[in-house]
Amino acid sequence: MISIQGKGVSNGVASGPLYFYQRATTTLRRYTVEDTESEWQRFKDAQQKCIEQLGELAEKARKEAGDDAAMLFETHQLMAEDLDYEDAIQASIMEEANNAEAAVTDTAATFADMFASMDDAYMQARAADVKDVSSRILNILYGVVQGGIDSDVPVILAADDLAPSETIQLDKTKILAFVTEGGSSSSHTAILARTMGIPAIVGVGDQIKKEYEGRPTIVDGSTGQVYVDPDEDTTTYLMEKRRKLIEYQQMLEELKGKENITLDGHEIRVYCNIGSPEDVHSVLSNDGGGVGLFRSEFLYLNCDDYPDEEYQFEAYKQALSEMGNREVIIRTLDIGADKQIEYFDLPHEENPALGNRALRICLNRPEIFRTQLRALFRASAYGHLGIMFPMVTSVWEVREAKKMCEQVKNELKEEGIPYDEHVQIGIMVETPAAAVMSDRLAKEVDFFSCGTNDLTQYTLACDRQNNDLGRFFDPHHPAVLRLLKMVCDNAHKNGIWVGICGELGADLDLTETFLSIGIDELSVSPRSVLPLRKKIRETTLSEVKEAILEDLMGEGSQF
Ligand code: PEP
Ligand code: MG
Repeated sequence: MISIQGKGVSNGVASGPLYFYQRATTTLRRYTVEDTESEWQRFKDAQQKCIEQLGELAEKARKEAGDDAAMLFETHQLMAEDLDYEDAIQASIMEEANNAEAAVTDTAATFADMFASMDDAYMQARAADVKDVSSRILNILYGVVQGGIDSDVPVILAADDLAPSETIQLDKTKILAFVTEGGSSSSHTAILARTMGIPAIVGVGDQIKKEYEGRPTIVDGSTGQVYVDPDEDTTTYLMEKRRKLIEYQQMLEELKGKENITLDGHEIRVYCNIGSPEDVHSVLSNDGGGVGLFRSEFLYLNCDDYPDEEYQFEAYKQALSEMGNREVIIRTLDIGADKQIEYFDLPHEENPALGNRALRICLNRPEIFRTQLRALFRASAYGHLGIMFPMVTSVWEVREAKKMCEQVKNELKEEGIPYDEHVQIGIMVETPAAAVMSDRLAKEVDFFSCGTNDLTQYTLACDRQNNDLGRFFDPHHPAVLRLLKMVCDNAHKNGIWVGICGELGADLDLTETFLSIGIDELSVSPRSVLPLRKKIRETTLSEVKEAILEDLMGEGSQF
């Protein structure tokens, strides 16, 4: 038995074969071919496979989001078999004896430049299409596995690290658990694992070796342990642990339908964080009171090109209608930092977490923001929507974003398209600047939602992606908690509500603190709703509040 210790970031015990994520190797190999006929055939086979893949994607999109969403893939199918494109590749292979990868790469570059230099905006946009289709053909030529897993049975997925864009595209039915060499507890991959309810362990370093592939493995997400070829005792012990976890889960079921209320009658809302409309099922099955954070950027991460208004509208509408009259707060696009999307073509940054991300991108590229806001307001007619903006630092940013909301509402009104006039507009408080300015910001919005993942990283100057910072990355740090209290006080003085949607919201060691400082809503992964409800229902706030506030703010504080 090989025993490996990492950091457990999503609870649960899972057992299955170990499988290494297959990442695209896209470094171009360029060489001269002798048998040009068979090289041409190699291209034709890849082209055919690409057309088939696009057909499947079109069908999936049609079922999930309607005809307009399917059209993108159908356009790409036409592009893949475009005669001019094919002729250029054929000439490169047959006349210049280039290998198929080089022929596709060169042709894609020529066609993309040609489209980009045209005056017509529609034709310019075709540059992205030709790049996209070509990279799909290249992936097939390189033998890259779509979705990173080529296995008939569910596996324990090992990887050096997984980018959010890779995680979101995985076939979830194939994954029993994640084990990564790098990563940290507040990385988006860990967050996604918790949202999906899949056990996950990060930071195992080089202890996990490629030669273990296919061997029986058990992971324990609560202790961070991974066992390859587990012995009988370990297997028995962990299977028993899994049985008890399931039993605990069944016990929590009894809390469904009950209030999130302390023993002395203080009530708080418990909502859920989601990344896609499909996650609504687990919100409902875990009895979440609403959605406190829908990370809309995952829709973008799941697409090969900018999702258009219709595609987004269908996704938001689905989430809102399935949630019925329960509130759904959708955060506008928060890309940048670790959530990079190729088609945004963002310039390389030395410090992306401090760079062009989230609301900054939306304000600098209003056409992208406007498309999302139109989709959101249109969807507002189908449920109870709230909208919030991420990474705010200044009042002017909020005013500019709100102005765009007003413009979009006016447009919809003129077009006779229904929307809800009373959509609440809020901001995420996830920068120290926003927390310090919360007295002013509170006058601009209907609610605050504290993003403690980023608030911790920016307040403590600790990169949330870096697992090596150990005790320096401390979300319980009094500086973070004092900022949260300050935000709460400023929100309440101005008559607005305040929630927490960062991972800290589910930290049961802080539930009493959050109740004491007056947080109104906690938004957590669906699986955390019932444990949190249990904790709230076991608390007598009046017994703990004074001591907690004294510890946090008093002179003789333990800090
Ligand atoms: C946060 O920063 O706490 C947050 C909820 O947003 P994200 O984790 O997506 O950055
Ligand atoms: Mg954040």
